[in-house]
Amino acid sequence: MNDLRELVRRFTEREIVPNLPDWERAGEVPRELHAKAAKLGLLGIGYPEEVGGGGGTLLDSATVTEELILAGGSSGLIAALFTHGIALPHIIATGDAALIDRYVRPTLAGELIGSLAITEPDGGSDVANLRTVAKVDGQHYVVNGSKTFITSGARADFITTAVRTGEPGSGYGGVSLLVIDTTTDGFGVTRRLEKMGWQCSDTAELSFVDVRVPRSNLVGAEGTGFRQIMRHFASERISMAVQACATAQRCVTLTIAWCRDRSTFGARLIDRQVVRHRLAEMARVTAVARTYVWSLADRIASGDKVSPVEVAMAKNTAVVACDYVVDAAVQLHGGAGYLRDSEVERHYRDARIMGIGGGTVEIMNEIIAKGLLDAG
Ligand SMILES: Cc1cc2nc3c(=O)[nH]c(=O)nc-3n(C[C@H](O)[C@H](O)[C@H](O)COP(=O)(O)OP(=O)(O)OC[C@H]3O[C@@H](n4cnc5c(N)ncnc54)[C@H](O)[C@@H]3O)c2cc1C
Repeated sequence: MNDLRELVRRFTEREIVPNLPDWERAGEVPRELHAKAAKLGLLGIGYPEEVGGGGGTLLDSATVTEELILAGGSSGLIAALFTHGIALPHIIATGDAALIDRYVRPTLAGELIGSLAITEPDGGSDVANLRTVAKVDGQHYVVNGSKTFITSGARADFITTAVRTGEPGSGYGGVSLLVIDTTTDGFGVTRRLEKMGWQCSDTAELSFVDVRVPRSNLVGAEGTGFRQIMRHFASERISMAVQACATAQRCVTLTIAWCRDRSTFGARLIDRQVVRHRLAEMARVTAVARTYVWSLADRIASGDKVSPVEVAMAKNTAVVACDYVVDAAVQLHGGAGYLRDSEVERHYRDARIMGIGGGTVEIMNEIIAKGLLDAG
């Protein structure tokens, strides 16, 4: 095992596994966890040193994600602790020194928590038609609207927010990104949302009523928000695919151990051919999905261009594999797999979001179909 995996495994076993059940009940992870992870350099992995990161590539951040789940963590924990993975990339890509100093460095140091708010109550898939408006007033934008399903939204210090700076109906060309401090007057957390899974990750509905945001908090140029969002969806989707594969791998391991231990009708489950074949299928779909997903991560890390079609294929492949495996894992655990204190039960619930968040299975298929069928 390499040093990074070893570090993540020790951190997970010491800091996460004993506390995860409490955090699931509390509906959030404590802020101290961010500070502890930052101290070990885990939050900054995959980010350039010039912005306060620890360097490394997508392969390193994928390794952190994977090992955290393999060591007994969860995708929900990753959503909560690594929300900056979706909140920061747009800011970093602009190279805006003031925004980087104010938001990126303290977040990678575990001092601030950031969220990304795109989805609105009227729709998440149709990003080009979002309705939260930002109107210029002197040196400020005045923001009005609402967002929903925002990961870490209840704990966030700042929110990278997709707003409409163009006229109503201006489509994707009228979308911009603004960083909004959650202490600003008019910002509110309207509701903490209760969910099927990812229970240690707080998810919020947010409202913006005449929120005044300095124009200097614009991320990149006005009207480029949609393009920025689409560009950075690639890393979010690969990360979710890595989480799905790791969740599947963890469930394969847990289920093999369970089937070795459990005997019925005078024989161990693992000795029955129907069970062995089920385990073989679980391992096969997991290995094949992981190979494709990690080959894309490897290419991205080497500076190769991967297409949105390939990324969408990776996400959907990982989601299908994970859905199959978590279901089979619960089945093979029998009644124990249905209980709250069984790890496979948590993975089963957590996995359901993978085909919804970061672009649904259907939207991924739209991307694949467009790329393939509209080309000729
Ligand atoms: C736990 C959780 C955390 C989340 N975290 C965040 C976050 O941090 N930030 C954020 O901005 N968002 C977040 N989301 C929102 C998530 O990205 C959206 O839920 C997702 O994009 C889908 O949008 P929607 O829920 O509005 O569904 P809709 O867009 O209303 O879609 C509903 C259904 O219709 C299908 N559909 C939509 N359009 C088409 C089409 N053209 N063709 C075929 N089928 C279609 C969809 O695939 C889906 O099955 C989170 C969601 C959850 C549940």
